Amino acid sequence: MKYDVIIGLEIHAELKTKSKMFCACDNNSTGKAPNTTVCPICLGHPGTLPVPNKQAIDWTLLIGLALNCQINQHSKFDRKNYFYPDLPKGYQISQYDQPFCFQGSLAVGDKEIAITRVHLEEDTGKSFHPQGRTDTLIDFNRAGTPLVELVTEPTITSAEEAKKFCQAYQRILRFLEVSNADMEKGEMRCEANISLQKKGSWQYQGGQILPTGKRTLSAKVEVKNINSFRAVEKAINYEITRQASALDEGEEIIPETRGWDEKKNETVAQRRKETAADYRYFPEPDIPPFIIDQAWLDSLKQSLVELPPAKQKRFIHQYGLKEESAEILTNDKDLAAFFENTVSEMGAWIEANGDDFERQDKNAAQMAANWINSELLKNLNTDKRAVADLKMTAENFAELLTLIWQNKINSNAGQRILEVMYWEGGDPGDIMEKLGLEQLDSEEELEKAIRAVISANPKQASEYKGGKLPLIQFFIGKAMAETKGKANPEKLKPLLEKLLME
Ligand code: ZN
Ligand code: MN
Repeated sequence: MKYDVIIGLEIHAELKTKSKMFCACDNNSTGKAPNTTVCPICLGHPGTLPVPNKQAIDWTLLIGLALNCQINQHSKFDRKNYFYPDLPKGYQISQYDQPFCFQGSLAVGDKEIAITRVHLEEDTGKSFHPQGRTDTLIDFNRAGTPLVELVTEPTITSAEEAKKFCQAYQRILRFLEVSNADMEKGEMRCEANISLQKKGSWQYQGGQILPTGKRTLSAKVEVKNINSFRAVEKAINYEITRQASALDEGEEIIPETRGWDEKKNETVAQRRKETAADYRYFPEPDIPPFIIDQAWLDSLKQSLVELPPAKQKRFIHQYGLKEESAEILTNDKDLAAFFENTVSEMGAWIEANGDDFERQDKNAAQMAANWINSELLKNLNTDKRAVADLKMTAENFAELLTLIWQNKINSNAGQRILEVMYWEGGDPGDIMEKLGLEQLDSEEELEKAIRAVISANPKQASEYKGGKLPLIQFFIGKAMAETKGKANPEKLKPLLEKLLME
């Protein structure tokens, strides 16, 4: 392609504070009837006064700190004026020239994506256009929900990078426990500014895209209404293709806002883009400015938890995990904690059994990581359940892994026990006894099973004896079936090899 792709993101995230941004209304309207979590303040009645939510400001600053932002010691709210049916005041309280946080960064793989600003504002209500009706319904429950807006520098160069940025940001919001950031529920909303420029026709200077020489830049287009990670990628790729073919035809790109149509898989023109001047920003006269001093920031820094990138590095170093394995485990705060609790409990179980075990034993940790990433996560993803919904404790899960670790059961039996524990919880030792899954260790019984298998498969047995050694896997499988998966694999294989050669 003869164009460079230039993408900047604006991401809005709803904070899950108890009350709304400027009033005491319940901020959680899930399952509540329309227009029930409202009051004169969030409905914009004349004469009412907004009172800022301290928790929302703290959390915005915390997000800024997590993203390595500078914090504005002097900050304020501003009015952003525009008319929209679900914006009852006729303006949005937002932040203009003194956002709480600015100049941060967030890594996507090896690349640091620069963040222009992170500011705090209020959400609007929601309009509904029921099918078959000509009127519009409005629900103000969401009006006044604290909304954090993050703006990146235009340094993202592909749809995939944009998607990964959104995912990395979502992880941080969830680790900080300030937002559920579920895109499907609109708790996190992504807008992308996309332009294509002829190679060599532009430069990036002082945070701006500037033309080189006397050339002119191609306009950027804003894409809204993107409500999943998949849609982030699809919408941007669609727009790249659309703009490239327009430019190829010698057409000019119109600076406009386009909406992503999930059903048609295309972006659709919505309106010409507003500029800052259209909004007539001015300082919010009803809220005094803020002074954010060092003591305030210091106390926030203390509540800053270990974030996914740091946790991933630590898991690799401390537990000897592979990068990919560590990444999966640190995707979710609860999953990461479940893993670490499992490893520590495994140490306790093994020590309680009188064995020698170093708590940070890397083999046990890798075993735990493998079981969580393959077996457990597979089930959770299929059932769309969260780690918090698990009936099984890390202690019981660790006990199960210890049974396998100590060769009391094989991994087949482990999987069957896990299936019971996953749905019902419970003690793996009890389940093992109930299901009769205790590992078959007795040489006598193993021999009996092997002899039965050999006499049932005389052709393969003589082929093996004739030198077709890979057939050993066939016999292992048969013998496992014969013992209902209970045979100790470490004893089974050598015994099979011996008896097959007789
Ligand atoms: Zn209210
Ligand atoms: Mn905004």
